[in-house]
Amino acid sequence: DSDATKYIWFNGKMVPWADAKVHVTAHALHYGSAVFEGIRAYKTAKGPQIFRLKEHIDRLFNSAKIYRFPVAQTKEEIMDACKKVITENGLEFGYIRPLIFMGEVGLGVKFKKGVNADAMVCALPWGAYLGEEGLKKGIKACVSSWRRLAPDTIPTEAKAAGNYLSSILIANECTNNGYTEAIALDSNGYVSEGSGENVFFVKDNVIYTAPTTAGLLPGITRDAVIKVAQDLGYEVRTQPLPREFVYLADEMFFTGTAAEITPIASVDGIDVGQGYRGPVTEKLQNAFFAIVRGETEDKYGWLTPCKA
Ligand code: PMP
Repeated sequence: DSDATKYIWFNGKMVPWADAKVHVTAHALHYGSAVFEGIRAYKTAKGPQIFRLKEHIDRLFNSAKIYRFPVAQTKEEIMDACKKVITENGLEFGYIRPLIFMGEVGLGVKFKKGVNADAMVCALPWGAYLGEEGLKKGIKACVSSWRRLAPDTIPTEAKAAGNYLSSILIANECTNNGYTEAIALDSNGYVSEGSGENVFFVKDNVIYTAPTTAGLLPGITRDAVIKVAQDLGYEVRTQPLPREFVYLADEMFFTGTAAEITPIASVDGIDVGQGYRGPVTEKLQNAFFAIVRGETEDKYGWLTPCKA
């Protein structure tokens, strides 16, 4: 594995990458009983700093709470582990993946009394998810034939492993059809999100994004972009968006920990605006990257150093 680092934090210990193993009867493997996070550590002049660590770990524990997972660790332990997998692997930047899962607790969907969930945190040396080129020029997107999860079926506010079966369908269908990413609609036919990103629109200088009721994961980058946009003086409207909005917007972009802020150049072969990154998207990218790289004042308190 070219992404392999030296150590993975596993149930409280740093263990060599190759030794962080689970049994084939692990509950999560059979029923999808796992919740996780994706977090970025950025290279800054003060060393690697983690973007919105507290918000990510709060969301991780909220996901576990919804599913009634018996979590053995505290938030502080997991936050500490996130810092350790960066520093002890000698990474200057990277993608941090905490995972809480039901392991060797026996098969059957009901959790037995007295069992605990397992926890691991690893770090991967990842750069831009949709490509450096994509960050500048924008990517080709389509509308997925798959809808996102309907409310009161599987909760999309939980970042749970099982939700990613939906993402697998959406992402692999669009790749197979020659697109880089897809936009899925919710069960009512309104715009929801990408397979691993939230989606934003710019029309007549107003910024729009779908509401949390549209079967989406309320992204931490989504929240950051809303705050940065409002501080730059933009009006941000969170409202149900019909499908045709994707063909009539002046600009569109995806947001996410992996995707950061990635412009969308076309949808279903129809150019978005001029067919490349628009001025509002570029302004938001510049403001966002300046914060995460520690080049401007961290006025929101979004960065956490990895070393004490
Ligand atoms: N939606 C989905 C389905 C995702 O997997 C992600 C990535 N975690 C996002 C949205 C964006 O969330 P965030 O900005 O917190 O990474």
